[in-house]
Amino acid sequence: MTVLALWHKPAVPLPFRVRPVRGETTLSFVFRLAAANELVRPTTLLRSIGHPDNTSPDQFMVLKNWDAQLNLAARERLAIFAGIPLERLARSLPMPGLRHGTTALATPSLHFAGVRATTRTHCPRCVAQIPGTPVIRVYSSAADSYCRRHQLWLGECAAQPPVNLSSAPEIAKALHRRDKLLRSDDDPDWISSHVNTAQDIMLAWRCNPDPLLQRRLTRRWNERDATVKAANHAHQLLPTRLLVLPESVILAEILTDPTWRRRIGLAELVHEQRPFYLHIAHRLGFRGWTAGLHTANDPLRRWVDQHQAQHRNTYRFTSRHPAPVR
Ligand SMILES: [Zn+2]
Repeated sequence: MTVLALWHKPAVPLPFRVRPVRGETTLSFVFRLAAANELVRPTTLLRSIGHPDNTSPDQFMVLKNWDAQLNLAARERLAIFAGIPLERLARSLPMPGLRHGTTALATPSLHFAGVRATTRTHCPRCVAQIPGTPVIRVYSSAADSYCRRHQLWLGECAAQPPVNLSSAPEIAKALHRRDKLLRSDDDPDWISSHVNTAQDIMLAWRCNPDPLLQRRLTRRWNERDATVKAANHAHQLLPTRLLVLPESVILAEILTDPTWRRRIGLAELVHEQRPFYLHIAHRLGFRGWTAGLHTANDPLRRWVDQHQAQHRNTYRFTSRHPAPVR
């Protein structure tokens, strides 16, 4: 008698459903679904979803930072077992695509891959509230980096411990504003490059706070750092780019503002540039101080020089309200 592999059998919705966490790895979700339905081994559900094409699944794969890549036929079976339409499931689970292998497309297939470098654990306090406190792994790039409910910044890799931001609400607000800024344009990569530029400028000011305005920022950052450390265990460190994020986002908003881009792009003389630097100082909360912002070696000044060299002629020969110059 021929014994059919589990994936040959028709998929049916399991009695208990599990809500996927945004950015969750497929394997993490499958193992939770198996646990909720009291399957003794989660690998039984894996083998029911599809044929493992590179290694034999084991029940500790989530702990070992593995994920399962599924072809379309296997995804459709997972959606049926989960009782969630595939389209909706895919909105939460990134489900990285299965490479084209030798397995026929019609055969539901699983391929296992290590994902340690790109994943981290979900918010520990959210997990603590889920019955059984399961291990939930998420892709850092697809999951929220901040848990609003518990005011925890969750880091971007497994090595980064969560940071309690309850004592620095301006950082949490900056994370929200940064995400809003990234969503504000049809070209998020362009916005993202300016967020990175603004962040690099702030990091340079943090490392080398020479002029007056930056010394004032240093005081603010030192106080913020001390406040966050006091609310966390001593060994937990706030990454510098998170420490300076509120100011980075403010600067990124200015660097991507079409009106200011045009104005500073055309401002050749020092007195014409002054309103731009005054505006930045004002938005950062320091009225009237621009000293040092436009000295030759300052990274902000270097951005201005580069921006002018790249776009001055475009601004000069276009009408007052053209499409934004990129
Ligand atoms: Zn949480």
